Amino acid sequence: MLRYGDSMPANANRPRSLSVQGRAVKPAPFAYVRATSLDQVFDLLEEHGDDARILAGGQSLMATLNMRLSAPEVLIDINRIDGLAGISFADGTLRIGAMTRHSAVADSPDVARHAPLVAKAMPHVAHVAIRNRGTFGGSIAFADPAAELPAVCRALRARFVLQGRGGSRTVEANDFFLGLFETARDPGEVLVAIEIPTIAAGEKTSFLELARRHGDYAIVGIAAQGKVSGGTFSDMRVAFFGAGDRPILAAAANAALEGKAFSDDTVAAAQAALDADLDPMPDLNGSAATKMHLARVLTGRALKEMAA
Ligand SMILES: Cc1cc2nc3c(=O)[nH]c(=O)nc-3n(C[C@H](O)[C@H](O)[C@H](O)COP(=O)(O)OP(=O)(O)OC[C@H]3O[C@@H](n4cnc5c(N)ncnc54)[C@H](O)[C@@H]3O)c2cc1C
Repeated sequence: MLRYGDSMPANANRPRSLSVQGRAVKPAPFAYVRATSLDQVFDLLEEHGDDARILAGGQSLMATLNMRLSAPEVLIDINRIDGLAGISFADGTLRIGAMTRHSAVADSPDVARHAPLVAKAMPHVAHVAIRNRGTFGGSIAFADPAAELPAVCRALRARFVLQGRGGSRTVEANDFFLGLFETARDPGEVLVAIEIPTIAAGEKTSFLELARRHGDYAIVGIAAQGKVSGGTFSDMRVAFFGAGDRPILAAAANAALEGKAFSDDTVAAAQAALDADLDPMPDLNGSAATKMHLARVLTGRALKEMAA
């Protein structure tokens, strides 16, 4: 195990700012293990408990370490474990390995065909350099309420496959996100895959977000999928990100849309129902009232797009 900040060989190729015998580093000292099997990960998670963190793409974790928002004792790098990355389709289900990079998801014809809502969302997830390292599973496990993919997964009725020492279990996306950066993953488990039912005949999608710059986290965003037949909505799953402490499936708005044809009144009813669904937190991007207003505006635009 290599301890970050330890003395390194004189010829070690590393940035100067990371070094000098434990001084002048941004994160608190930590040990680093490059795991080669899930069993090794389970051993380390068992041994270190809450003092261990899984390292996937590092695009969120390293920032929290550098800002000293977290100071784990051990980082468990899962990048070299076989079988955690890749995209496949069988029996009506798209399976995305947790370690699949955002860029691979964005480029996948299977994703574009079977989960077009994911394909629409991907260009909004950060920037190219971050998408080249960041992983689909990392975004789900991190559970940032302003992130695109957790809300997309709720709209898609995705399932998350979690593996622990005793075997694996599947958790519905709708049961996974429990609060601010809080999920149903047990500390000893690794998220290994995301399963997404293929888009059904007659279903349409819309993905829209408002951000200060393209690629920034959203101020508010919407991800929606549902049946639209002759302009009439059914089985709608409108979900929001950046509008609460977790990704939110707008149950009241979805109920208000059931069996209703697109019209100004239908849109207004769905927009009004959002009062029961959303409880946005004020932040540097705006007040709760501003975010509610933006969520209603996005709802109107998304429904119009889907009904067209
Ligand atoms: C400048 C910048 C802008 C960004 N903008 C956006 C944006 O607009 N939208 C967006 O969604 N994201 C954005 N991100 C985050 C990016 O999408 C990350 O890739 C993603 O949130 C985390 O993925 P990761 O693979 O890098 O995970 P890591 O940073 O490695 O891990 C994140 C957390 O999840 C845990 N974890 C990771 N993988 C697993 C697993 N398989 N099982 C269990 N736990 C796991 C880690 O322990 C850690 O706690 C941005 C990042 C940066 C640096």
